[in-house]
Amino acid sequence: MACFVSFSCTSCHWKKKAFMSKKEICRKKFSSKVRSNPDLLVAVLPKTPTPQKDPVQEKDQTEKGNETLVNEESFFSLILNRVVDTVDDAMVHFNRAFFPPKIDPQARKPTLVILGTGWAAHSLIKVIDTVKYDVKVISPRNYFLFTPMLPSTAVGTVEFRSIVETFRTANPFVDYLEAYCVDVDLQKQLTLCESNIPGEKRKFQIFYDYLVIAVGASTNTFGTPGVQEHCYFLKEISDARGLRRAIVERFELASFPDISKEEKCRLLSFVVVGGGPTGCEFAAELHDFLVQDLKRYYPKLFEDVQVILLQSGDSILTQFDRTLQEKALENFRQSNIRVITKARVTEVTSTHILLVDGREIPYGLAVWAAGNGTQPLTRLLLSKIPEQKEARGRLLVDPWLRVKGALNVFAVGDCAAVEPVPLPATAQVAGQQGAYLARLFNRDYCLSCPVPESEGNSTAPLAKWRPGGSPEIAKPFQFLSLGILAYIGRERAMAQIETGLEKIKMAGVLTYLLWQSVYITKQVSFRNRVLVLFDWFKTRVFGRDMSQF
Ligand SMILES: Cc1cc2nc3c(=O)[nH]c(=O)nc-3n(C[C@H](O)[C@H](O)[C@H](O)COP(=O)(O)OP(=O)(O)OC[C@H]3O[C@@H](n4cnc5c(N)ncnc54)[C@H](O)[C@@H]3O)c2cc1C
Repeated sequence: MACFVSFSCTSCHWKKKAFMSKKEICRKKFSSKVRSNPDLLVAVLPKTPTPQKDPVQEKDQTEKGNETLVNEESFFSLILNRVVDTVDDAMVHFNRAFFPPKIDPQARKPTLVILGTGWAAHSLIKVIDTVKYDVKVISPRNYFLFTPMLPSTAVGTVEFRSIVETFRTANPFVDYLEAYCVDVDLQKQLTLCESNIPGEKRKFQIFYDYLVIAVGASTNTFGTPGVQEHCYFLKEISDARGLRRAIVERFELASFPDISKEEKCRLLSFVVVGGGPTGCEFAAELHDFLVQDLKRYYPKLFEDVQVILLQSGDSILTQFDRTLQEKALENFRQSNIRVITKARVTEVTSTHILLVDGREIPYGLAVWAAGNGTQPLTRLLLSKIPEQKEARGRLLVDPWLRVKGALNVFAVGDCAAVEPVPLPATAQVAGQQGAYLARLFNRDYCLSCPVPESEGNSTAPLAKWRPGGSPEIAKPFQFLSLGILAYIGRERAMAQIETGLEKIKMAGVLTYLLWQSVYITKQVSFRNRVLVLFDWFKTRVFGRDMSQF
């Protein structure tokens, strides 16, 4: 018991000195335990910035480590683990609801700073035990956004407020600062921030014992000239709001008497760049809006309307199996959505999209959904940490989500790349990583104290000291893929579901019902569920709201 207390406390630098002697005792005990048990992997967390290692050797070792980790657990044991974790999380929620943590301003708990309120941060905030940590959330937005339904809000199928929820409902016992983190002093353990409240340009610093970076990704324009100036994006709720306004505006503009036929055709040409899930789902939602609502209100203009989807590769929705890709293409053909593959955009002017083969596509509204870029903070950190020099726009993290070369710093979600094979940048991955990290914190794993190195061991799992002195190794993060879904328009969707044995592939109207039920269950609050259901009902009965104000 003494050992357990000393180790969990020494992880907090503010009590390090007081527990130094006990820590030494624990270290010895741990060391002998490891020697007597060669199967046991032991954590080694660098005290000072990680020393340079042979990159080839390191890669081999990590690969080996990950291979065993991936093979170690079958799909079903992963599911079982998740069930156990969920029960564990439920206990944290239960305690929080019925025995709220007492707020004692004098008590000094380790400070856990979380950057962001997106998928990864939200699930971390939901699960983290605020009895053990003083949690501070820094993010420019005080709400969680259910991004998969952003395309629906951009055309009014679902209202904006139905897919956002203040993150405080997830955990009211965290402090929040509406600000951007603009820099991190890794030596002094300080985050440097700037407020995001209009007219309140405050700068301040927040100290951290542990820092979790969950700032997501930005939109990647690949440096294409004109994209930033002329295209709409679909990343934030403000983007969806702007788009919804702009779509109807094009119709109002095309209604003016002095507009030529040619100009009308250009104004009503809606181009989506990017054949991934975001681009395809937006094109599908836009098509529904045009056919189900705008056709009724602008019958004279409708013959000039067209939706074009540009994709640089030779197919769309390449995350799905080939047969499903074909189904999506066929559905788009039947919807009169013109899909142009192998269409690499070289420039966007105010009226035309130029392709590498010389084609010029006139457009009235262009949406850029062509991939993920790097957030400014992530870029800055990548340039500051020498161990990150091989990173490609995402912070390299070990299988326990610790940032390479930065002590006590973790990264989750779209801004992180687990070595050696990065996981896809999806909400599913981000959500699972956030919850995983919260459990590491909640279960008192020793996250920063130096634990003796076992001979010939390359991976660096974390050790936890239990009462009685026996160490436990933290399981590395393992992604449990449940499958992928996409809406393809005309009340049809596609699904590719993982069962552990083989993939179940389906597409059509019934899959759309599955898509709807998954999205309803995945909403982060009961309020959101009710609102989304109500919006779907409203759209079906009354159509989408087109008024602009
Ligand atoms: C339109 C759209 C549809 C999608 N559909 C799906 C889907 O169907 N299924 C799926 O799995 N994935 C989907 N995704 C991808 C999914 O949204 C992302 O993978 C997920 O949001 C990543 O979560 P995250 O927590 O890493 O980042 P985000 O959710 O993007 O959150 C980042 C957070 O960091 C904050 N932030 C940014 N900069 C700073 C800073 N400097 N300091 C502090 N805070 C900062 C942001 O305000 C935000 O709160 C979709 C994405 C989009 C845009």
